[in-house]
Amino acid sequence: MKQLEYFLPDESATIAIGDGLAQVLQSATKQQALVVYLNGDLGAGKTTLTRGFVRGMGHQGNVKSPTYTIVEPYELANWRVFHFDLYRLADAEELEYMGIRDYFNEDCCCFIEWPEKGAGLLAKADLIINIAYQDEQRIIKLQAETVHGEQVLMSLAQIIKL
Ligand code: ADP
Ligand code: MG
Repeated sequence: MKQLEYFLPDESATIAIGDGLAQVLQSATKQQALVVYLNGDLGAGKTTLTRGFVRGMGHQGNVKSPTYTIVEPYELANWRVFHFDLYRLADAEELEYMGIRDYFNEDCCCFIEWPEKGAGLLAKADLIINIAYQDEQRIIKLQAETVHGEQVLMSLAQIIKL
């Protein structure tokens, strides 16, 4: 399965997609990292979806937007989750100074807002997610870019019924 598309009537539907991705990863027999690029205009719901994911992975506290910190790390039981927002990145080279390569490990999930700002320095995406406005609501498209991404979409389709 290469592509999935859902209509998201409200915020809880956006959260459900992020939570669904977390359930898919946690129920997989083999732990495998996931790299997700998140595209969409300001306010589309990229951070909201990531919040659903991070909570679904077992984080119980706040999930704040990493707009000013560039990256927000979450150390969970079996996983590390890194939530990036590259919107304010002046120069992709800043990512080198941050040691970006160390973030792309087998026990790490990376959700990256504004990935185009880090072009050339990021790991290849397993999934490219696009969230678009449809009036006050949203449409989400999830595109698989790797075999792992395809497997994740196949499992997601079985648990998300919107
Ligand atoms: P981004 O990270 O893309 O800039 P945020 O997730 O910070 O966007 O903000 C998204 C805003 O849109 C929040 O106010 C959230 O409540 C709202 N929202 C999220 N998903 C939906 C949806 N499916 N329909 C309507 N509003 C939504
Ligand atoms: Mg955001």
